Amino acid sequence: MKQYYMPTKIISGRNCVVANSHVFKAYGNKAMIVTGRYSAKVNGSYDDVIQALAQEKIEYCLYDKVMSNPTVACAYEGAMMAKDEAVDFIIAIGGGSPIDAAKAMALIATNEVIEADLFKGTCKNEAMPLIAVPTTAGTGSEATQYAILTNDLLETKSGLANGSIFPKVSFLDASYMMTLPLEITINTSIDALSHAVEGLISIKSSPVSEALATKSIEAIVGVLPALLEAKQQDHIGGLDFEIREVLLYASMIAGMVIAQTGTTAVHAMGYSLTYFKDIDHGRANGLLMGHYLKSIEDKAPNTVHKILAPMHMKCADELIALMDSFFDDKEVVTIEELEMYSGKAIVTGNINNCGVKPTKEDLLDIYKAALNV
Ligand code: NAP
Ligand code: ZN
Repeated sequence: MKQYYMPTKIISGRNCVVANSHVFKAYGNKAMIVTGRYSAKVNGSYDDVIQALAQEKIEYCLYDKVMSNPTVACAYEGAMMAKDEAVDFIIAIGGGSPIDAAKAMALIATNEVIEADLFKGTCKNEAMPLIAVPTTAGTGSEATQYAILTNDLLETKSGLANGSIFPKVSFLDASYMMTLPLEITINTSIDALSHAVEGLISIKSSPVSEALATKSIEAIVGVLPALLEAKQQDHIGGLDFEIREVLLYASMIAGMVIAQTGTTAVHAMGYSLTYFKDIDHGRANGLLMGHYLKSIEDKAPNTVHKILAPMHMKCADELIALMDSFFDDKEVVTIEELEMYSGKAIVTGNINNCGVKPTKEDLLDIYKAALNV
Protein backbone atom coordinates (compact mmCIF):
# COMPACT_ATOMS: atom_id res chain seq x y z
CA MET A 1 0.00 0.00 0.00
CA LYS A 2 1.33 3.44 -0.90
CA GLN A 3 0.23 6.73 0.56
CA TYR A 4 1.14 10.39 0.35
CA TYR A 5 0.67 12.80 3.26
CA MET A 6 2.26 16.21 3.73
CA PRO A 7 0.01 18.63 5.60
CA THR A 8 2.37 21.63 5.75
CA LYS A 9 1.31 24.82 4.00
CA ILE A 10 4.28 26.21 2.08
CA ILE A 11 4.51 29.96 1.46
CA SER A 12 7.51 31.06 -0.56
CA GLY A 13 9.11 34.10 -2.11
CA ARG A 14 11.08 37.15 -1.12
CA ASN A 15 9.57 38.96 1.90
CA CYS A 16 6.92 36.24 2.36
CA VAL A 17 7.09 36.33 6.19
CA VAL A 18 6.22 40.00 6.65
CA ALA A 19 3.76 40.01 3.75
CA ASN A 20 1.83 37.12 5.32
CA SER A 21 1.91 38.14 8.97
CA HIS A 22 -1.81 37.35 9.33
CA VAL A 23 -0.90 33.64 9.00
CA PHE A 24 0.75 33.73 12.45
CA LYS A 25 -2.36 35.15 14.09
CA ALA A 26 -4.30 31.96 13.39
CA TYR A 27 -2.10 30.12 15.91
CA GLY A 28 -2.55 32.34 18.96
CA ASN A 29 -1.47 35.43 20.84
CA LYS A 30 1.90 34.35 22.21
CA ALA A 31 4.74 32.55 20.45
CA MET A 32 8.09 31.09 21.42
CA ILE A 33 10.77 31.75 18.80
CA VAL A 34 13.42 29.02 18.61
CA THR A 35 16.76 29.74 16.93
CA GLY A 36 20.44 28.93 16.99
CA ARG A 37 22.80 31.29 18.77
CA TYR A 38 23.73 33.67 15.99
CA SER A 39 22.75 33.28 12.35
CA ALA A 40 19.02 34.13 12.51
CA LYS A 41 19.83 37.52 13.96
CA VAL A 42 22.16 38.44 11.08
CA ASN A 43 20.44 36.96 8.02
CA GLY A 44 17.21 38.97 8.33
CA SER A 45 14.92 36.08 9.29
CA TYR A 46 14.59 36.96 12.97
CA ASP A 47 13.93 40.64 12.21
CA ASP A 48 11.22 39.67 9.71
CA VAL A 49 9.49 37.35 12.17
CA ILE A 50 9.60 40.01 14.89
CA GLN A 51 8.11 42.53 12.46
CA ALA A 52 5.37 40.10 11.44
CA LEU A 53 4.51 39.42 15.09
CA ALA A 54 4.47 43.14 15.88
CA GLN A 55 2.10 43.77 12.96
CA GLU A 56 -0.28 41.20 14.45
CA LYS A 57 0.28 42.26 18.09
CA ILE A 58 1.50 38.78 18.99
CA GLU A 59 3.72 38.53 22.09
CA TYR A 60 6.79 36.33 22.05
CA CYS A 61 9.62 34.88 24.08
CA LEU A 62 12.94 33.68 22.66
CA TYR A 63 14.87 30.43 23.06
CA ASP A 64 18.11 31.03 21.14
CA LYS A 65 20.38 28.31 22.46
CA VAL A 66 19.96 25.53 19.90
CA MET A 67 23.33 24.02 18.97
CA SER A 68 24.15 22.05 15.80
CA ASN A 69 23.03 18.43 16.17
CA PRO A 70 20.73 19.44 19.04
CA THR A 71 20.62 17.40 22.20
CA VAL A 72 17.65 15.88 23.98
CA ALA A 73 18.44 18.16 26.94
CA CYS A 74 18.05 21.20 24.69
CA ALA A 75 14.62 19.96 23.56
CA TYR A 76 13.46 19.50 27.17
CA GLU A 77 14.83 22.90 28.20
CA GLY A 78 12.97 24.65 25.37
CA ALA A 79 9.77 22.72 26.10
CA MET A 80 9.97 23.84 29.72
CA MET A 81 10.25 27.44 28.58
CA ALA A 82 7.24 27.04 26.29
CA LYS A 83 5.20 25.73 29.23
CA ASP A 84 6.45 28.32 31.73
CA GLU A 85 5.74 31.13 29.31
CA ALA A 86 2.34 29.64 28.39
CA VAL A 87 2.89 30.16 24.69
CA ASP A 88 0.30 29.13 22.09
CA PHE A 89 2.70 28.14 19.32
CA ILE A 90 6.34 27.87 18.33
CA ILE A 91 8.22 29.54 15.48
CA ALA A 92 11.46 27.79 14.48
CA ILE A 93 14.00 29.85 12.54
CA GLY A 94 17.23 28.37 11.21
CA GLY A 95 18.71 25.25 9.77
CA GLY A 96 17.60 21.73 10.54
CA SER A 97 18.98 21.96 14.06
CA PRO A 98 16.66 24.69 15.40
CA ILE A 99 13.71 23.35 13.39
CA ASP A 100 14.18 19.80 14.70
CA ALA A 101 14.77 20.97 18.27
CA ALA A 102 11.61 23.10 18.05
CA LYS A 103 9.60 20.12 16.78
CA ALA A 104 10.69 18.05 19.76
CA MET A 105 9.94 20.98 22.10
CA ALA A 106 6.47 21.28 20.56
CA LEU A 107 5.74 17.63 21.33
CA ILE A 108 7.30 17.55 24.81
CA ALA A 109 5.48 20.77 25.78
CA THR A 110 2.08 19.09 25.41
CA ASN A 111 2.96 15.62 26.72
CA GLU A 112 4.50 14.06 29.82
CA VAL A 113 7.19 12.08 28.04
CA ILE A 114 10.41 10.81 29.56
CA GLU A 115 13.65 10.66 27.58
CA ALA A 116 13.62 6.86 27.32
CA ASP A 117 10.25 7.04 25.50
CA LEU A 118 10.84 10.16 23.42
CA PHE A 119 12.03 8.43 20.25
CA LYS A 120 9.04 6.08 20.20
CA GLY A 121 7.17 9.13 18.88
CA THR A 122 3.91 7.85 20.36
CA CYS A 123 2.50 10.66 22.48
CA LYS A 124 -1.07 11.05 23.66
CA ASN A 125 -1.49 14.71 22.74
CA GLU A 126 -0.86 16.59 19.54
CA ALA A 127 2.23 18.79 19.52
CA MET A 128 1.95 22.53 19.95
CA PRO A 129 1.53 24.18 16.51
CA LEU A 130 4.84 24.93 14.83
CA ILE A 131 5.76 27.38 12.08
CA ALA A 132 9.13 26.95 10.34
CA VAL A 133 11.38 29.48 8.65
CA PRO A 134 14.31 27.54 7.15
CA THR A 135 17.57 29.40 6.58
CA THR A 136 19.54 26.49 5.12
CA ALA A 137 18.55 24.37 2.11
CA GLY A 138 19.26 20.80 3.08
CA THR A 139 17.34 18.96 5.72
CA GLY A 140 13.85 19.53 4.35
CA SER A 141 12.73 19.61 7.99
CA GLU A 142 10.26 22.33 7.01
CA ALA A 143 8.23 19.60 5.27
CA THR A 144 8.75 16.51 7.42
CA GLN A 145 7.36 14.90 10.57
CA TYR A 146 10.86 14.10 11.84
CA ALA A 147 13.06 15.63 14.52
CA ILE A 148 16.61 14.30 14.62
CA LEU A 149 18.35 14.68 17.97
CA THR A 150 21.65 13.60 19.46
CA ASN A 151 20.76 10.55 21.51
CA ASP A 152 23.44 10.06 24.14
CA LEU A 153 21.63 7.06 25.62
CA LEU A 154 22.34 5.12 22.39
CA GLU A 155 25.45 7.11 21.38
CA THR A 156 24.04 8.10 18.01
CA LYS A 157 21.59 10.45 16.38
CA SER A 158 18.00 9.25 16.52
CA GLY A 159 14.88 10.33 14.73
CA LEU A 160 11.60 11.09 16.39
CA ALA A 161 8.64 10.74 14.02
CA ASN A 162 5.19 12.05 14.84
CA GLY A 163 2.55 13.33 12.43
CA SER A 164 1.70 16.29 14.65
CA ILE A 165 5.19 17.82 14.34
CA PHE A 166 4.85 18.55 10.64
CA PRO A 167 5.09 22.36 10.63
CA LYS A 168 1.65 23.90 10.13
CA VAL A 169 3.23 26.48 7.84
CA SER A 170 6.73 26.90 6.41
CA PHE A 171 7.95 30.20 4.99
CA LEU A 172 10.62 29.85 2.31
CA ASP A 173 12.53 33.05 1.63
CA ALA A 174 15.87 32.39 -0.06
CA SER A 175 17.20 35.83 0.83
CA TYR A 176 17.97 34.51 4.34
CA MET A 177 20.46 32.12 2.75
CA MET A 178 22.63 34.82 1.21
CA THR A 179 24.78 34.79 4.37
CA LEU A 180 25.24 31.02 4.39
CA PRO A 181 28.96 30.15 4.19
CA LEU A 182 30.12 28.10 1.21
CA GLU A 183 30.97 24.95 3.15
CA ILE A 184 27.54 24.84 4.84
CA THR A 185 25.90 25.58 1.48
CA ILE A 186 27.69 22.60 -0.08
CA ASN A 187 27.04 20.22 2.81
CA THR A 188 23.36 21.09 3.09
CA SER A 189 22.85 20.79 -0.69
CA ILE A 190 24.37 17.33 -0.57
CA ASP A 191 22.13 16.42 2.36
CA ALA A 192 19.11 17.36 0.23
CA LEU A 193 20.49 15.38 -2.71
CA SER A 194 20.92 12.40 -0.41
CA HIS A 195 17.27 12.66 0.70
CA ALA A 196 16.07 12.56 -2.90
CA VAL A 197 18.42 9.68 -3.76
CA GLU A 198 17.45 7.68 -0.69
CA GLY A 199 13.79 8.30 -1.42
CA LEU A 200 14.30 6.37 -4.65
CA ILE A 201 16.15 3.57 -2.83
CA SER A 202 13.45 3.19 -0.17
CA ILE A 203 10.93 0.36 -0.28
CA LYS A 204 8.31 3.04 0.48
CA SER A 205 9.02 4.86 -2.78
CA SER A 206 5.79 5.60 -4.68
CA PRO A 207 4.99 7.26 -8.01
CA VAL A 208 4.44 10.58 -6.19
CA SER A 209 7.65 10.46 -4.14
CA GLU A 210 9.55 9.27 -7.21
CA ALA A 211 8.40 12.25 -9.26
CA LEU A 212 9.38 14.65 -6.49
CA ALA A 213 12.74 12.95 -5.93
CA THR A 214 13.60 13.07 -9.63
CA LYS A 215 12.73 16.76 -9.79
CA SER A 216 14.82 17.48 -6.71
CA ILE A 217 17.86 15.60 -8.08
CA GLU A 218 17.63 17.46 -11.39
CA ALA A 219 17.43 20.82 -9.63
CA ILE A 220 20.33 20.17 -7.24
CA VAL A 221 22.61 18.62 -9.83
CA GLY A 222 21.84 21.61 -12.07
CA VAL A 223 23.41 24.01 -9.55
CA LEU A 224 26.29 21.81 -8.38
CA PRO A 225 28.63 23.22 -11.08
CA ALA A 226 28.08 26.70 -9.63
CA LEU A 227 28.86 25.38 -6.14
CA LEU A 228 31.96 23.62 -7.42
CA GLU A 229 33.16 26.75 -9.17
CA ALA A 230 32.61 28.76 -6.00
CA LYS A 231 34.62 26.17 -4.08
CA GLN A 232 37.46 26.10 -6.60
CA GLN A 233 37.68 29.89 -6.61
CA ASP A 234 37.03 30.07 -2.88
CA HIS A 235 34.50 32.76 -3.65
CA ILE A 236 30.81 32.58 -2.82
CA GLY A 237 29.81 35.66 -4.82
CA GLY A 238 28.41 33.66 -7.74
CA LEU A 239 25.73 32.04 -5.60
CA ASP A 240 22.98 34.53 -6.25
CA PHE A 241 19.38 34.66 -5.04
CA GLU A 242 18.13 32.55 -7.95
CA ILE A 243 20.56 29.72 -7.15
CA ARG A 244 19.66 29.93 -3.46
CA GLU A 245 15.98 29.73 -4.37
CA VAL A 246 16.52 26.62 -6.53
CA LEU A 247 18.31 24.95 -3.63
CA LEU A 248 15.63 25.93 -1.12
CA TYR A 249 12.90 24.57 -3.39
CA ALA A 250 14.81 21.37 -4.18
CA SER A 251 15.56 20.69 -0.54
CA MET A 252 11.94 21.27 0.46
CA ILE A 253 10.66 18.78 -2.10
CA ALA A 254 13.34 16.29 -1.04
CA GLY A 255 11.88 16.74 2.47
CA MET A 256 8.46 15.93 1.03
CA VAL A 257 10.04 12.76 -0.37
CA ILE A 258 11.52 11.49 2.90
CA ALA A 259 8.34 12.41 4.74
CA GLN A 260 6.87 9.50 2.72
CA THR A 261 9.83 7.17 2.28
CA GLY A 262 12.11 7.73 5.26
CA THR A 263 15.86 7.62 4.75
CA THR A 264 17.99 4.53 4.23
CA ALA A 265 21.45 3.06 4.87
CA VAL A 266 23.25 6.28 3.90
CA HIS A 267 21.72 8.26 6.76
CA ALA A 268 21.96 5.29 9.16
CA MET A 269 25.70 5.09 8.47
CA GLY A 270 26.22 8.83 8.50
CA TYR A 271 24.87 9.28 12.03
CA SER A 272 27.92 7.56 13.61
CA LEU A 273 30.27 9.73 11.56
CA THR A 274 28.54 12.79 13.00
CA TYR A 275 28.24 11.45 16.55
CA PHE A 276 31.76 10.09 16.94
CA LYS A 277 33.79 12.08 14.40
CA ASP A 278 31.86 15.35 14.33
CA ILE A 279 31.55 15.10 10.55
CA ASP A 280 28.85 17.44 9.28
CA HIS A 281 25.58 15.63 8.49
CA GLY A 282 25.50 16.50 4.77
CA ARG A 283 29.17 15.75 4.28
CA ALA A 284 28.73 12.37 5.99
CA ASN A 285 25.93 11.50 3.56
CA GLY A 286 27.95 12.73 0.60
CA LEU A 287 30.95 10.61 1.55
CA LEU A 288 28.77 7.49 1.70
CA MET A 289 26.06 7.97 -0.94
CA GLY A 290 28.02 7.05 -4.09
CA HIS A 291 29.62 4.05 -2.42
CA TYR A 292 26.26 2.76 -1.25
CA LEU A 293 24.92 3.08 -4.81
CA LYS A 294 27.97 1.26 -6.14
CA SER A 295 27.26 -1.60 -3.70
CA ILE A 296 23.76 -2.10 -5.18
CA GLU A 297 24.57 -1.30 -8.79
CA ASP A 298 24.49 -4.96 -9.87
CA LYS A 299 21.62 -6.00 -7.59
CA ALA A 300 19.23 -3.16 -8.38
CA PRO A 301 20.24 -1.69 -11.76
CA ASN A 302 16.84 -0.12 -12.39
CA THR A 303 16.87 1.77 -9.11
CA VAL A 304 20.41 2.99 -9.69
CA HIS A 305 19.48 4.04 -13.23
CA LYS A 306 16.49 6.05 -11.92
CA ILE A 307 18.86 7.90 -9.59
CA LEU A 308 21.73 8.47 -12.02
CA ALA A 309 19.68 9.35 -15.12
CA PRO A 310 18.57 12.79 -13.83
CA MET A 311 22.24 13.39 -12.97
CA HIS A 312 23.21 12.51 -16.57
CA MET A 313 25.44 9.76 -15.23
CA LYS A 314 25.85 6.12 -16.20
CA CYS A 315 27.52 4.54 -13.19
CA ALA A 316 28.00 5.09 -9.47
CA ASP A 317 31.69 5.80 -9.95
CA GLU A 318 30.72 9.07 -11.64
CA LEU A 319 28.72 10.11 -8.58
CA ILE A 320 31.60 9.13 -6.30
CA ALA A 321 33.93 11.30 -8.38
CA LEU A 322 31.49 14.23 -8.25
CA MET A 323 31.13 13.98 -4.46
CA ASP A 324 34.90 13.65 -4.07
CA SER A 325 35.38 16.89 -5.95
CA PHE A 326 33.58 18.67 -3.09
CA PHE A 327 35.47 16.99 -0.27
CA ASP A 328 39.07 17.71 0.59
CA ASP A 329 40.98 15.30 2.79
CA LYS A 330 38.71 12.53 3.99
CA GLU A 331 38.57 11.78 7.68
CA VAL A 332 40.83 9.09 9.12
CA VAL A 333 39.14 6.18 10.90
CA THR A 334 40.23 2.80 12.24
CA ILE A 335 38.78 -0.58 11.31
CA GLU A 336 37.67 -1.03 14.92
CA GLU A 337 35.71 2.22 14.74
CA LEU A 338 34.10 1.21 11.47
CA GLU A 339 33.09 -2.17 12.88
CA MET A 340 31.41 -0.40 15.75
CA TYR A 341 29.63 2.04 13.41
CA SER A 342 28.46 -0.84 11.19
CA GLY A 343 27.03 -2.59 14.25
CA LYS A 344 25.10 0.53 15.18
CA ALA A 345 23.79 1.18 11.67
CA ILE A 346 22.64 -2.36 10.90
CA VAL A 347 20.07 -2.36 13.74
CA THR A 348 18.36 0.86 12.64
CA GLY A 349 14.97 1.05 10.98
CA ASN A 350 16.58 2.87 8.04
CA ILE A 351 18.19 -0.42 6.96
CA ASN A 352 14.79 -2.12 6.68
CA ASN A 353 13.83 0.74 4.37
CA CYS A 354 16.46 -0.20 1.79
CA GLY A 355 15.24 -1.83 -1.42
CA VAL A 356 18.36 -4.00 -1.26
CA LYS A 357 19.12 -4.69 2.40
CA PRO A 358 22.84 -4.55 3.14
CA THR A 359 24.53 -6.89 5.60
CA LYS A 360 26.78 -5.63 8.37
CA GLU A 361 29.75 -6.70 6.21
CA ASP A 362 28.39 -4.65 3.29
CA LEU A 363 28.21 -1.60 5.55
CA LEU A 364 31.78 -2.13 6.67
CA ASP A 365 32.93 -2.34 3.05
CA ILE A 366 31.08 0.87 2.18
CA TYR A 367 32.64 2.69 5.15
CA LYS A 368 36.08 1.42 4.18
CA ALA A 369 35.68 2.61 0.59
CA ALA A 370 34.32 6.00 1.65
CA LEU A 371 36.84 6.97 4.33
CA ASN A 372 40.54 7.02 5.00
CA VAL A 373 41.27 3.82 6.93
P1 NAP B 1 22.30 23.50 11.25
O1 NAP B 1 22.98 22.63 12.25
O2 NAP B 1 20.91 23.90 11.51
O3 NAP B 1 23.16 24.83 11.03
C1 NAP B 1 24.54 24.73 10.73
C2 NAP B 1 25.22 26.08 10.91
O4 NAP B 1 24.73 26.97 9.93
C3 NAP B 1 24.98 26.72 12.26
O5 NAP B 1 26.21 27.22 12.71
C4 NAP B 1 24.04 27.87 11.95
O6 NAP B 1 24.24 28.98 12.81
C5 NAP B 1 24.45 28.23 10.54
N1 NAP B 1 23.42 28.87 9.72
C6 NAP B 1 22.13 28.47 9.52
N2 NAP B 1 21.51 29.27 8.64
C7 NAP B 1 22.42 30.21 8.28
C8 NAP B 1 22.39 31.34 7.40
N3 NAP B 1 21.31 31.63 6.67
N4 NAP B 1 23.50 32.11 7.30
C9 NAP B 1 24.63 31.81 8.01
N5 NAP B 1 24.73 30.75 8.84
C10 NAP B 1 23.64 29.97 8.97
O7 NAP B 1 22.48 22.81 9.82
P2 NAP B 1 21.51 21.95 8.90
O8 NAP B 1 22.38 21.17 8.02
O9 NAP B 1 20.44 22.79 8.32
O10 NAP B 1 20.79 20.93 9.91
C11 NAP B 1 21.42 19.75 10.33
C12 NAP B 1 20.54 19.03 11.32
O11 NAP B 1 19.32 18.63 10.68
C13 NAP B 1 21.20 17.74 11.80
O12 NAP B 1 20.93 17.59 13.18
C14 NAP B 1 20.51 16.67 10.97
O13 NAP B 1 20.54 15.40 11.60
C15 NAP B 1 19.11 17.24 10.88
N6 NAP B 1 18.27 16.67 9.78
C16 NAP B 1 16.92 16.66 9.94
C17 NAP B 1 16.09 16.12 8.98
C18 NAP B 1 14.59 16.09 9.20
O14 NAP B 1 13.85 15.54 8.39
N7 NAP B 1 14.10 16.66 10.26
C19 NAP B 1 16.62 15.61 7.79
C20 NAP B 1 18.00 15.66 7.64
C21 NAP B 1 18.81 16.21 8.62
P3 NAP B 1 23.35 29.22 14.13
O15 NAP B 1 23.56 28.03 15.02
O16 NAP B 1 23.87 30.49 14.70
O17 NAP B 1 21.92 29.33 13.68
ZN1 ZN C 1 19.69 14.34 6.10
